[in-house]
Amino acid sequence: MSRVIAIDGPSGAGKSSVSRRVGQHLGFLHVDSGALYRIMTWQCLQNGIDTSDPEAVAAFAQTVEVECEPRDGAIIYRVQGQEPGDAIRTPEINRHASPVATVKAVRDRITDWLRGMTRFGDLIVEGRDITTAVFPESPARFYLVASAEARAERRRKEEVEKGIANQSAEEVKRSLLARDAIDSTRQHAPLRKADGALEIDSTYLTLDQVVQTVLDALPAAWKEGNA
Ligand code: C5P
Repeated sequence: MSRVIAIDGPSGAGKSSVSRRVGQHLGFLHVDSGALYRIMTWQCLQNGIDTSDPEAVAAFAQTVEVECEPRDGAIIYRVQGQEPGDAIRTPEINRHASPVATVKAVRDRITDWLRGMTRFGDLIVEGRDITTAVFPESPARFYLVASAEARAERRRKEEVEKGIANQSAEEVKRSLLARDAIDSTRQHAPLRKADGALEIDSTYLTLDQVVQTVLDALPAAWKEGNA
């Protein structure tokens, strides 16, 4: 049986950096579940699907195929043979992703894909419903948070560094809070802290400190040397 570390939290809380580092340390494959919601959204937009029409999105979601395979410590995704890259990280995708993610048919499809990834080995999976709905049985579940200001600043820097966008901190914060609001109030698998998940506030912690907190909290048999 594969082991799964599950990490949830709002946008910009540091889930990706922490998951990548913990995954490298333990030899667990990093799975970015948000990228799958972004791919669904990107495909909707490319095919002229109205993302505010749940029925149209649900029907279209059944036709989307994503290939996935392990590479360099992570699961990578391809759509029709191509990796989407930064095309799924634009402000436009940010705006449409949360409405698409409210659609149950989208969530069911992506949940199946994520559960199927255990065939590749041990995983560290980050998202919004991993601890509550996708892998609720995992003994290693974390809820990562940070202040809205810290989260917006991290996302803004990332966007500028990658050359994706040059929005003000205020604009990034607005977009992030709008997504959080939809993600945490939706009917199906809303973002919330799972009972039994360890909450870590990363606002004043370095990446190393958050990584160490996660490692320290893992079941003893999963830690370095025993993994
Ligand atoms: O993590 P990321 O910001 O890339 O996720 C994009 C969007 O995908 C989120 O705002 C959320 O609406 C959705 N999502 C989700 N459940 C997940 C991961 C992401 O609903 N497990």
